Amino acid sequence: MNKTVLHFDIDAFFASVEQLRNPALKGKPVIVGAGVIASCSYEARKYGLHAGMSIAKAKKLCPKALVLEGNCQIYRCVTDRIFEICHSLSPSIETYLDEAYCDLSGTEMVYHNDIIKPAREFKERVKNEVGLSATVGLGVNRMVAKMASKSAKPFGFRAIKAGDETGFISSLPVESLPGVGRKTGAIFKKFNINTIEEIRKLPIDSLKTLFGQNGAAIYERCRGRDTHVINEREIPKSISRETTFHKETTNRDEIEGMIHYLAERAMNTLRELKLLTKAVNLKIRYSDFIEDAATRRFVEHTNIDSEVFERLMDALKIVYKRRVSLRLVGVTLSNFKMESAHEQLSLFESDKEKEKRIKLYRSVDSIRNKYGFSSIIMGQSINISRNLEQDSYGYILRTPSLTK
Ligand SMILES: [Mg+2]
Repeated sequence: MNKTVLHFDIDAFFASVEQLRNPALKGKPVIVGAGVIASCSYEARKYGLHAGMSIAKAKKLCPKALVLEGNCQIYRCVTDRIFEICHSLSPSIETYLDEAYCDLSGTEMVYHNDIIKPAREFKERVKNEVGLSATVGLGVNRMVAKMASKSAKPFGFRAIKAGDETGFISSLPVESLPGVGRKTGAIFKKFNINTIEEIRKLPIDSLKTLFGQNGAAIYERCRGRDTHVINEREIPKSISRETTFHKETTNRDEIEGMIHYLAERAMNTLRELKLLTKAVNLKIRYSDFIEDAATRRFVEHTNIDSEVFERLMDALKIVYKRRVSLRLVGVTLSNFKMESAHEQLSLFESDKEKEKRIKLYRSVDSIRNKYGFSSIIMGQSINISRNLEQDSYGYILRTPSLTK
């Protein structure tokens, strides 16, 4: 099934926020970091400065550069605002430090099949409402969307149409492929392999021999196919799904059903990325726009829907106290770790039951990925199926932008 994914990345994030906070820094080479550059403005990059460079060296290359230590809390507030704008495009977003993926699949109808327009509007809104420049990419999966935005940096916008992804990545240098770092890139160079198209000529076994598990991922990725995370850097900060109700409601079944459905969507992505979660947050917005939220944590990381749902129901009890109808609910998973570290599970007899459940959810995921999300309706989600229209991708959720 064709997907549409939007990826955005804020240009020179920390440095840009500092320039925004102190207009005297505008147009000047600004460095944020201690010891090494965490982020530097485009004015600084003209001197060859880049993230990861030692500040001592940067000062030699550009003596007039201004060095700031930075303030994490402020940066987090700014990204929260941007992620909120992103949420108005689609209920499905995966956030990282200063970037996010937004799954627009299933929202095509909402935008009359013109995904480019809302994507451009998003970029405009970030500029107008937050004052920052974001580079935006569109593609058939997360990887292609990110490669598109990377190729458009800075201040850019690039959309790769479905079917064009292989052509788009072919001519790019090997280092453009996620998972090909400096070390892997150097090995390719030794074999005189310089472009992604040239990687495609290698059989999977050679790639595996050279790079192990990463080689198998490279085999998929050089064909324009996305794979699950393979290193810590690729782990998202959070995965969230939220939606406004078609009609504001106080109906408990409907509310629980929607939370169940959103949790299922988020958990599907979690397993697709081969991650486990340790915290889940429930957000509600009343019809008078007052919001409340609660976070529940797990003793151990999990990827089992029923455990997450149980915690969400605890959270609902805590947050839904007023007798006012709800307008929006949102589910956010966070505190991730990669699945591989969790595989000792089956060593314990008492975990046999757990293992069975994991297998069940995996088979549900694979059916859904093939036939669409709504091909299987589980548990309480059935409570909302009566009231919502469906397409093969899933229920057609109302996006906040439609209700304004
Ligand atoms: Mg950035």
